[in-house]
Amino acid sequence: MEILHSVTLDVEKCKGCTTCIKHCPTEAIRVRRGKAQILSQRCIDCGQCVRVCPHHAKKVVCDPFDMLKDFEYKIALPAPSFYGQFKNINDVNIILGGLLKIGFDSVFEVSKAAEMLSDLTRKTIKEPKDMRRPVISSACPAAVRLIRMRYPNLVENVMPQIAPVELAAILSRKQAAAETGLSPDKIGVFFITPCPAKVTGARYPIGGMPRVIDGAFSMTAIYKKIVGVINETEEPEALSSSGIMGIGWAVTGGESAALLNDTHLAVDGIENIKKVLEDIEDGRLPEIEFVELNACTQGCVGGCLTVENPYIAKTRIKRLMKYLPVSRNKFESGVGNKNLVTWDNQLKYSPVWRLGEDTTDALEKLNKINELYESLPGLDCASCGAPSCKAFAEDIVLGIASEEDCIFRMRERMQYLSGMGDADSYLPPPFRKSGEAQK
Ligand code: SF4
Ligand code: SF4
Repeated sequence: MEILHSVTLDVEKCKGCTTCIKHCPTEAIRVRRGKAQILSQRCIDCGQCVRVCPHHAKKVVCDPFDMLKDFEYKIALPAPSFYGQFKNINDVNIILGGLLKIGFDSVFEVSKAAEMLSDLTRKTIKEPKDMRRPVISSACPAAVRLIRMRYPNLVENVMPQIAPVELAAILSRKQAAAETGLSPDKIGVFFITPCPAKVTGARYPIGGMPRVIDGAFSMTAIYKKIVGVINETEEPEALSSSGIMGIGWAVTGGESAALLNDTHLAVDGIENIKKVLEDIEDGRLPEIEFVELNACTQGCVGGCLTVENPYIAKTRIKRLMKYLPVSRNKFESGVGNKNLVTWDNQLKYSPVWRLGEDTTDALEKLNKINELYESLPGLDCASCGAPSCKAFAEDIVLGIASEEDCIFRMRERMQYLSGMGDADSYLPPPFRKSGEAQK
C-alpha cells in the first residue's frame, strides 16, 4: 500500500546538498538530478531529515486547522509533551483552557489514556507466558515501523496494544456522543502532535486497527494560536484529570517508570534504539522485561514539531508534575475491555530491502552487490546521491542507479577513454592511492 507520509520535500527549496541522506536512519533518501527523493517504502517519518536540512526543504504536512468546521463538536487531544512548551505556566489547566478558547468544545488529555494503559501493562507484564521478553513498547510509531522493517526477529516482542492517543480518541468520542446526543461522525477528534510519525500514525494506525483520529495538528501551530490567549494569572477551570504517571510519558523513561519495577530499559534517539534492538536480537539483555523506545531525543518533548528545546521542556514537565497525584486513572474503571486496546493483528515483518523474488534470485543479487561494493572506493562520500557505497551498490543492482553516478568511476572512465592512462593522479589528493605522502 502506498502511504501518504507526513514528511515531504519542498522541491523548490532543495539544493541537493546531500546533508539529509547521511542522517536518515533507514537509508530512505537519494539525491537525483540535484534534488532529494524520499523512498516512500523505507520512510518511517522520524523527522531526522527535517531537523538537519540546512535549507528547510524537508517539511511536515499536518492537517489544516480549518478542518474543525467540518464537525459539530470538536475535541482536542493534547499530547503530554505539549505542557512543556509554555514558560511561566504552573497549572496544566491554563493550557487546556486555552484550547477551548481557540475553538475546541472539549479536551481529553492523552496522558489520561496513558495512565489507563500503564495500569493495564503493569498487570499484563506479570504474566510470563503472555509475551516474548523483553516486551517492547508500541507507543512510538517511528520505532515500531523501524522494527517492522529491519528487525524480523523482534516483531513478536512488540506489545500489541494501541497508543494512548488512540485510546483517548475512542473514549472521548464515546463520551461526547453520550453527552451531546450527536452521532459519532459529527464529532471531530484532533490530536496535537509533537512529531510527524504520529501524524502518519493517526492516518494509518499500526496493528490493523481502524482509524479513530480525524486529524493531527502540529504542536507548534497550536502553540502559536494559544500562547496569546492564555493568561498565567487567571483562575483556570479544573479540566485536567491525569497524574504524574500519565504526564510523565512526555519524556523518556516516563512510560517505563509507570510500570513500577526496575527491569525496564528506556532508550531515546534512533541510533541508540538501533543499538539496543541489535543487543536484544543477540540475547544480550536477558534481565530486561520491558523496553521503552522513543525515536526522539529525550522522548516526545524532542519531537520536531515542538517549540521548545527538549531539555527545557523536560524541566518544565517535571515542575508541573510536582503537585500532582501519582495516578488518577485505572484501566478497569476507565476502559474495562482489554479487547478494545489490543491490536487485531500481531505486528508483521515488512521487508523493504527484499532483493529478489525468491531466495536464489536474492542470493544472486546479494553476491553482485558484494562484488560491486568491493570495487567501489568505500569512502561513503554520498556524491553519487546514495548514503553509502553499500547502498549505492544495492541501487545499481536493483536498477535505480548506474555505475557512472560514482564520480570516481566516471573520472576513471573518462581518463581511459581519452587515452591518458591511469586516472589516479587526477583524483583529489585524499583519494589517490599512489604518490608520496607529504613530509
Ligand atoms: S538536506 Fe536534503 S532536502 Fe535539504 S537541501 Fe540538502 S539534499 Fe535537499
Ligand atoms: S523522515 Fe526519517 S525515515 Fe523518512 S526520509 Fe526523513 S530521515 Fe528518512
